[in-house]
Amino acid sequence: MTQQDYEALSPDTLAARLGPVDSIRSHLGDPEKWRVREVGDGNLNLVFIVDGPEGSVIVKQALPYVRLVGDSWPLPLKRAFFEYNALIRQEARDPGSVPQVFHFDETQAMIAMEFLQPHVILRKVLIDGGKVEGLAEVLGKFCARTLFRGSDLSMPTADRKADAAMFLGNVEICDITENLVFSDPYFDAEMNHHTPALDPVVKILRDDIDLKVTAQHMKSAFANNAETMLHGDLHSGSVMVTDTETKVIDPEFVTYGPVGFDVGMLIANFLHAYISQPGHASAPGARDDYQEWILSVIDDIWSTFEAEFSHLWRTERNGILYQASLFEDQGHARGSEQARIERLTAIWRDMLGFCGIEMHRRILSLAHNADFETIEDEATRARLEARALMLGRTLAVARGEITSMAQVLDLARQAN
Ligand code: ADP
Ligand code: MG
Ligand code: MG
Ligand code: MG
Repeated sequence: MTQQDYEALSPDTLAARLGPVDSIRSHLGDPEKWRVREVGDGNLNLVFIVDGPEGSVIVKQALPYVRLVGDSWPLPLKRAFFEYNALIRQEARDPGSVPQVFHFDETQAMIAMEFLQPHVILRKVLIDGGKVEGLAEVLGKFCARTLFRGSDLSMPTADRKADAAMFLGNVEICDITENLVFSDPYFDAEMNHHTPALDPVVKILRDDIDLKVTAQHMKSAFANNAETMLHGDLHSGSVMVTDTETKVIDPEFVTYGPVGFDVGMLIANFLHAYISQPGHASAPGARDDYQEWILSVIDDIWSTFEAEFSHLWRTERNGILYQASLFEDQGHARGSEQARIERLTAIWRDMLGFCGIEMHRRILSLAHNADFETIEDEATRARLEARALMLGRTLAVARGEITSMAQVLDLARQAN
């Protein structure tokens, strides 16, 4: 990429620079009449809403540094290329799950895409106590379809290897995950911060050898097990919803990694939503029913994932793995079912490991969750965060012994 031709957009320059692009103008109409707002609330990029006489689009542009930190932390523009390539694959593998892409400009690290409205970020809905119809079904299917269809279970292996090679080039972004998620929570890393009253819990976690070994096992799985195309950042801030519709955004952390990663990160963020509820309740107990709804969503995400993954295993297993010639064609359908169950058991165990570690890093490392951050009373916040930390520890370390979602939900209720 010719970085010297790159120029960050601003609300003042956007219409002049993107007006000539047919695929954008055809959605918006006359560029003279565009209105531009910068709305990025993420940690890394510029995001603009552009309203024209005939419609609206989102323009997302990578910055050559981490927005949250500033230009002292450079980050390659190429992540926009990875995000674009992830978006078009997600759309192909699970149609309608992500915003439609209208235009991509690699030099400008810029994607113009469908403006989701009146959608709002799921995390905000969960903090406000709102429900979304069909949430678990969309998210469970999104995970199953993108994770199955990006792997050697489904793809021609030459294509799978080409994609793995390409997405494994997202090195600096993977480095963020490898450090911020899997290592920083467990030592005094420079960018860490946490609620001060958590100090004793932090000491317990950092003295916990089993936990630190587990975190490194999970890091090894993330870095080495290039099974499938991950979303890579699938938390409730990467999901946009209305009362009845769910869409996934922001796959710039795409890489090739283990199937359990996205599901584990997603469920961790729902467990944070669950545990943080008392901090948002108008009166004690006012969110009790809502908390049970969150647990039912977690339950349904996993069961939908498992059912859809199993369905694809039985109907779309066209890759080089567990071929029908070895099983069904010899009258041994039982063999492919045994293999399916064993694969899902391994994914489940990984999922719990990633889930527990994600629950730690969102409280102890650089990037925190609004679920806890917006609880103003510090004592309440620390008390709830401590519950999440200890639950995360149990899920990660005991991942080999926890065999059902019912057990996970009971552990969450006990932590509450
Ligand atoms: P970052 O990578 O910096 O986190 P995101 O892709 O998450 O950027 O976008 C930041 C914010 O911009 C989102 O939280 C959301 O509010 C808004 N946004 C992003 N994409 C869309 C979209 N397609 N439609 C509507 N809003 C969007
Ligand atoms: Mg984001
Ligand atoms: Mg972000
Ligand atoms: Mg992002």
